[in-house]
Amino acid sequence: MSLHRSWHQTEEFYKPSPWPVPEFPTEINAIWDRVAQIDPARYSKTRNFINGSVTYLSPYISRGVISTRQVYESLLARGFRLYQMEKLVSELAWRDYFQQVWLAIGDRMFDDIRQPQEGVQHRLLPAALAHANTGIEAVDEGIRMLQQTGYMHNHLRMYTASIACNTGRAHWPMPAQWMYYHLLDGDLASNTCSWQWVAGSFSSKKYYCNQENINKYTGSRQGSSFLHKSYEELPLVDVPEALLETTDFSPTITLPACSLPALHGRGNILLYHHYHLDPQWRADEDACRILILEPSHFRRFPVSEKVIGFVQRLASNIPGIQLYVGEIDQLLEQLGMDRDEANQRMITREHPMVAHFPGQKDPREWLAPDVTGFFPSFFAFWKKASRFL
Ligand SMILES: Cc1cc2nc3c(=O)[nH]c(=O)nc-3n(C[C@H](O)[C@H](O)[C@H](O)COP(=O)(O)OP(=O)(O)OC[C@H]3O[C@@H](n4cnc5c(N)ncnc54)[C@H](O)[C@@H]3O)c2cc1C
Repeated sequence: MSLHRSWHQTEEFYKPSPWPVPEFPTEINAIWDRVAQIDPARYSKTRNFINGSVTYLSPYISRGVISTRQVYESLLARGFRLYQMEKLVSELAWRDYFQQVWLAIGDRMFDDIRQPQEGVQHRLLPAALAHANTGIEAVDEGIRMLQQTGYMHNHLRMYTASIACNTGRAHWPMPAQWMYYHLLDGDLASNTCSWQWVAGSFSSKKYYCNQENINKYTGSRQGSSFLHKSYEELPLVDVPEALLETTDFSPTITLPACSLPALHGRGNILLYHHYHLDPQWRADEDACRILILEPSHFRRFPVSEKVIGFVQRLASNIPGIQLYVGEIDQLLEQLGMDRDEANQRMITREHPMVAHFPGQKDPREWLAPDVTGFFPSFFAFWKKASRFL
């Protein structure tokens, strides 16, 4: 029998972190400075370590402020050749790969993609994740950091997902939704597909981590734990007591208040959303710019207030942008605009989330624009994409 309690964390939950706490400035020059400081060689050697030289660019790339292509081109402009930055570029390609999966299979991405997750015992969230008390010290620290900063290192994401789905036998969707809620870089494609990759429903086998691996990459020195096992033993162990308690994850979402955007003239209306916040996009045009946050989307895929605040601050790099919180059809109605006029005046960027928006959809920037469609594995995708780089 599993126990049940609320996912809300208590005050003593917040403890100072032993690791450097990443910061995510939202001013566009600071973001480009971060791109200019990438050291691809150090990245390749250290990226798996918690204190490694990772780029901390995902909150900007996932939100469409900068593209994978722009990061790649800025490295080329600094004189790096592909062989000197291949590790980093292949990581950037994971982003494009998962986005292509979403484009190709649509909402089916939110079900087990390749095969049903094996060994599922429940469809809730292990309470230990919500309360950062799995008993694996580095993971608990990573969860505290996630809730404080909105960021978690890639290895810790993998450990957390493996503990929830493989050791704890939870079906991946609810724990994935919990992590997505907190992430400044929350990207439905990367998040959903990565959780499925760890849980084995979008990969050939489940990903397991043991304590030794966690100690190596996080610098922890934990001796005994339920992960203090060999890789042969891990799939065979029963759900440890620390992961038996479950909780429902159903946060309420608070969106900011706004007034109806003012339209000046009869020119184009450029629509932005929380995955499309590029200040360079059509920057020279004299157009009305609207950031639209659709409540129906956030009810389905909740995010924290911290994430919404981050999105709004990123949007302020776009001169004159106005916020609209409501559905696109409500916006048309309130503006007194019919679908034909909207089709002529509204422009956004192509994205699976805004397929229902009227008007023109400009293409996104990809690392390899000719490599599209569903690839069963990243390696099949990368094999083809890397030929274009
Ligand atoms: C369970 C799980 C959930 C995840 N959820 C998300 C998510 O919601 N949003 C998200 O952006 N990433 C997600 N990732 C991928 C990855 O953890 C983050 O992109 C990375 O940690 C971001 O930190 P960084 O920018 O410092 O990465 P770096 O190591 O510096 O990587 C450089 C860039 O490459 C891209 N990248 C690297 N790895 C991946 C990857 N696996 N998938 C997609 N892009 C990648 C990112 O754009 C990143 O900014 C998830 C991974 C796992 C295992």
